[in-house]
Amino acid sequence: MSEFTLVPLSSLVCKIVSRCNLNCDYCYMYQHADISWQLQPFKMSETTIIQLGKRIYEHTKKYKLSKFSLILHGGEPLLGGLDYLKKFQDIIINNVSNIKVEFGIQTNGILFNDQILDFCISKNITIGLSTDGDKKANDLHRLDHQGKSLFQNLENTIKLLSSEKGRKVWTGLLCVIDLKNDPEAIYSYFSQYNPPAMDFLLPLNHYDLRPIGKKESLDATPYADWLLKVFQIWYYQKPQTIRIRKFEDIISMILGLQGSSEEWGLQAVDFAVIETNGDIEAVDCLKVTYPTATKLGMNIFSHSFDDIFQSKKIIERQKKWQHLSKTCQECRFVKVCGGGYIPHRYSRKNKFQNPSVYCSDIKKIITTIQKTVIQDLQLIKHKKCKESGPMDKPISFEG
Ligand code: SF4
Repeated sequence: MSEFTLVPLSSLVCKIVSRCNLNCDYCYMYQHADISWQLQPFKMSETTIIQLGKRIYEHTKKYKLSKFSLILHGGEPLLGGLDYLKKFQDIIINNVSNIKVEFGIQTNGILFNDQILDFCISKNITIGLSTDGDKKANDLHRLDHQGKSLFQNLENTIKLLSSEKGRKVWTGLLCVIDLKNDPEAIYSYFSQYNPPAMDFLLPLNHYDLRPIGKKESLDATPYADWLLKVFQIWYYQKPQTIRIRKFEDIISMILGLQGSSEEWGLQAVDFAVIETNGDIEAVDCLKVTYPTATKLGMNIFSHSFDDIFQSKKIIERQKKWQHLSKTCQECRFVKVCGGGYIPHRYSRKNKFQNPSVYCSDIKKIITTIQKTVIQDLQLIKHKKCKESGPMDKPISFEG
């Protein structure tokens, strides 16, 4: 542990509000074994926000960081209202005077409106929207606490964000895959709004909470088949204005570059989560594994961000490869896959020392994308050779 070189935090997921106006049945915050949210204050107090600003200042100064990102999350971050949002941003900016702080909001879109958009544009705060598709797809899981659909509010928000004004701060759409939904229809529904990006998340399941479609056999690949249908449309669409991070990451890593998310690849995880009471925690989706999985026993009033590097849970996320199962360490896909997203690797028996419960899907996705990219590169090479004679070096890929 003494040889360990930490990667400083470059961003925080801030739970500014700890409740939600939706009651999504797959929610990792409110539908699983960890019910610690019930003890959290509804929203982050002014004193906690000031302390958060001081900790960010301390950390960014020590590591000479030039920028730092805050993703405002919940629950639903907009439940605090516009004035609260303004106050939060103001306090942070006043306390972190040494660097540029980038703010982003991840919202379910139910409370979003013109005034919030104007504020976000004026402060350059970006907006990501969570939705699962058209009304039928979205309402499969994303209803309110009375079981009522709020899809109309959501669709109004998509329209607002896809307007000329909204595009100034809109970062894209985030969708959780449900095998019951038609991938082509979901992609086509989202595409009509021409979002800057969309991403499709594998459901937060693991070995003791098997994913739908993989309960009988983990060799089945229904999630790869679903995602690859989207890939086949997206990849060949020209010009392509929509980014799909999952596919772009896989292509980048196949080409030897680094991925941009903690879900894929072997790069160190460089963010933490701050709860409304100031607790510093590990990535929140771990709540689907066991009740205290995210707990570090630290709070911004008593601990600096440096202190979290004493925590075994954080060290394991930074020294990612050393803490993978032997199967993953020896796997030829590991540089791209990274052993799978951490909650997907969990079982009570082996903790996180398993390949992803989506391993067979991941292998099929990577293989198919790799084949497609290689074919394309060979075509380019062939075209180039015809134009100007043979290229100097053949393009090669590691297995
Ligand atoms: S999860 Fe599967 S594909 Fe990924 S590294 Fe492990 S064994 Fe390989």
